[in-house]
Order: sequence, then structure tokens, then C-alpha cells
Amino acid sequence: MLNTQINELKPLSYERDNQSQILIGGLKIQDLAKEFGTPLYVLCGETIRKRMRAYKETFAKANVPALVLYASKALNCKGLCRIANEEGLGIDVVSAGELYTALQAGMPPEKIILHGNNKSHEEITMAVENEIASIVIDNFRDIELLTDTLKTHSNKTIGLLIRITPGIECHTHEYIKTGSVDSKFGFNLYDLDQAIQKLLELQKQYPQIQLRGLHAHIGSQIFETEPHVDTVAVLMKLYQEIKNKYDLSFTDINIGGGLGIKYQDSDDPPEIELWTSKIINAVIKHSQELDLTLPRILIEPGRSIVGSAGLTIYEVGNIKDIQGIRKYVSVNGGMGDNSRPIMYQAIYTAEVNGKESKNLEKITLAGKYCESGDILIKDIELPPLKTGDLIVVFSTGAYNYSMSSNYNRNPRPALILVENSQAQVLVKRETLEDLLRLDQ
Ligand code: PLP
Repeated sequence: MLNTQINELKPLSYERDNQSQILIGGLKIQDLAKEFGTPLYVLCGETIRKRMRAYKETFAKANVPALVLYASKALNCKGLCRIANEEGLGIDVVSAGELYTALQAGMPPEKIILHGNNKSHEEITMAVENEIASIVIDNFRDIELLTDTLKTHSNKTIGLLIRITPGIECHTHEYIKTGSVDSKFGFNLYDLDQAIQKLLELQKQYPQIQLRGLHAHIGSQIFETEPHVDTVAVLMKLYQEIKNKYDLSFTDINIGGGLGIKYQDSDDPPEIELWTSKIINAVIKHSQELDLTLPRILIEPGRSIVGSAGLTIYEVGNIKDIQGIRKYVSVNGGMGDNSRPIMYQAIYTAEVNGKESKNLEKITLAGKYCESGDILIKDIELPPLKTGDLIVVFSTGAYNYSMSSNYNRNPRPALILVENSQAQVLVKRETLEDLLRLDQ
């Protein structure tokens, strides 16, 4: 088994030398800060590749047909798409921008699938023109837009999956099964028949489109394996009903993403191999019990691949000590580069570079943006801090850069990849000029 240590919130290459200097990928973060500036997103290549391999190898060991699609919404840039391709993964995209990036990075179209609950005509057309693997049909409007696109693209081959809301809702630690679901994504089960009929009609007219199966994504940052196992059961039961009713054998089953990662010590996610094996076993079991041909299994992990591979380096600026109340230590980034704390009250962990973990004092790590809520970490115990210290916030690889903004007209930080003692810029730091690029 690969040592992916998903149950660890730091990148696999994290080290501290005897002066308490933090190293990632064999490089001192102090040197990275000097060379590339701060705030700085740093990704550990070893962690990303090992986690991608863990997914792939679990399928390979089970000897079942599969395609692992990196959910690029977690972090999409050409560099990441290239790594996913090198490691034999495909990509899940949710917009023309993500699709364009994947194509420009050289990801083969036959390994790309497109999602979205409100796809534009442009997005559907781009997917069809490039003959990507599959469009995930989310609603009746998608079918209308696809029908329209096919009128002028009747020579293009494209796969289709239908997204459903399976009645399983996950809220990180808990999950509930409900009869009806309240979600903007996918077809509710009572609409599935009509969707299938419409798509089969379309397939009659355009035989080069192929209805391949169903998709469900039940949530994110999930620490249990049962919700996904139950999702497989729901989907496979539908496969049987669809086979009986339409004499249609689906070839693909897509279970989405959602495996959680560690953001704080109390988080306890299962290993990639365990999570993936449970899904594989469930698909095999239900295929056998329901006498169905084993479909190809698609999964879409995002956070569990890049989340704890990433960290952000900040520099301490102003320190405000409100006696007896709170000590605010402000850094040179915040909600523009990491919107998760202000959006979801997400919890992070941090360390100070070059200082041992002693004489700890409770502080609040604040951002530099003009919002009182721009707090990166409330009440964290760190060694005494002074202006100029470097702070590392862990597990920022997923949904940080991809959700970043120019709020307060702050340029976005650079994103670098460190691997084998080499640093490579994946995305350059924005400049003040970049901020004006589109202003008229
Ligand atoms: N697939 C779909 C359809 C999603 O909506 C998401 C996340 O929202 C993912 C995959 C990736 O989820 P995660 O990053 O939790 O693995």
C-alpha cells in the first residue's frame, strides 16, 4: 500500500530542521518566501502524485474497469491538469474556463467530463465540439441545449451521464437518507424516467451520442464510507429497473467525490484505499446480486488529492493586543486567498517558521481585508510572534486558490509546486497592472 497518510494534515514532504525551519519538497519555506514573495501558495508534488496513484492503484489491484477523474474545481490550473494527465487520471470540469484550461494543458478530451447545474449553450457546444468523454446531464434545460447543439454538430461523438439526487445527504460527519431531496443539482428521481426517454429519443436521432449511465455526488469533506456505499446501492437498483424497463445496460457508474481530509487533529478521514475499496466492493456486490454487467466505475476526488498537499505562507504584519480580550496577529493575506473561514467557518491549523512549539500564547490570526470577519484562525496557540515572522497555514490546497478573489483589489498570490528540491511556478503572482488589465 502506498503511504498516502491522508490522516495527516501536512504535506508528505513536510520537515523541520534543527533550527525549526520548515521545509517542503526539500526546500526551506524561508527561501521560497524570499524568492517568490508572500502570501504564497505551495503545493507538494509528492503528496499530489501519491494520492492520485492511491486511487488508481486501488482500482488496478481490484482489476475492475475504472476512470479516476480529478475534480478540478478543487484547484484548476494548467500545471495541475498536466500532473493529473501524467498520473493517468482524467478531469472533471464545471465551466468553459475549467474545460479550456484542461484542453490547453493537453488533457485528452476522452478523459474529460463536464458538470454544471446551469450550463450555458457555449459550454455544451464546447464540450460537443471537442468530443469530450461525457456531459453530465443535470436537468431538462441541458437536454434542450444539447438538442440544439447537435443540430449543427451531428458528426460529433459524445457520451452522456444523467446526474440524479439519490436521497442521501451528507453533512461532513453525519449523513441522512431522505425520500425527497432539496438540491439544485441533478434530477429528482420522479423526473428520471422522463429524462431517460428524452435522451433515448435524441439518441435515435443522433446515434453517435451514447447514454452511458448515472452520476451522483452526495457531498464533500465526508469521513464515513457508508454514504457512498449506500449511493452505489441506490444507483445499481436504478440500473436494474432501467434495464428491465428500457432494455438498456448502462456501461458507466459515477459516484462523484467527497472523501474528507484532516484540517484539525480531531478530523479522522478514512484512507483513500479503504474508501475506494468500499465503493468497488459495493459495485461488484450489487452487479452480481442484480445480475448486471459490471459497469466501469468513475469517481471524482478533488479535496482528498490536493487539500493537504497545499499550504500557504504568510508574513506577520501588525499585532494588536487588546489587554484581557484578544491578541490579533494580522498577516498579509486572508479572505481573498482563503475564503473558506469566512464562508463556511472552516477551521485551519498553522505553525510558525523557525520557532519551537513552546511558550505558546493564544492569538487570533487575522487577514488584511476590510471585513471584521476576515479571520483565518480564531484562538490558536502559537509561539510568541513578531512582525516579519513567517506563518504556514496547512491544508490550503483545495478550494483556496480556486475560490480566490481580488477583493479590495489585492493581487492573487503565486502558486508554486515543490518536488525533489525544485520549485516551479504554476501560476504567477498577479501584479497591480494585472488588476487594471480589463478596466476601460
Ligand atoms: N464531483 C462533483 C460533482 C462535485 O460537485 C464535487 C465538489 O463539490 C466533487 C466532485 C469533488 O468533491 P471533493 O473535492 O469533496 O472530492
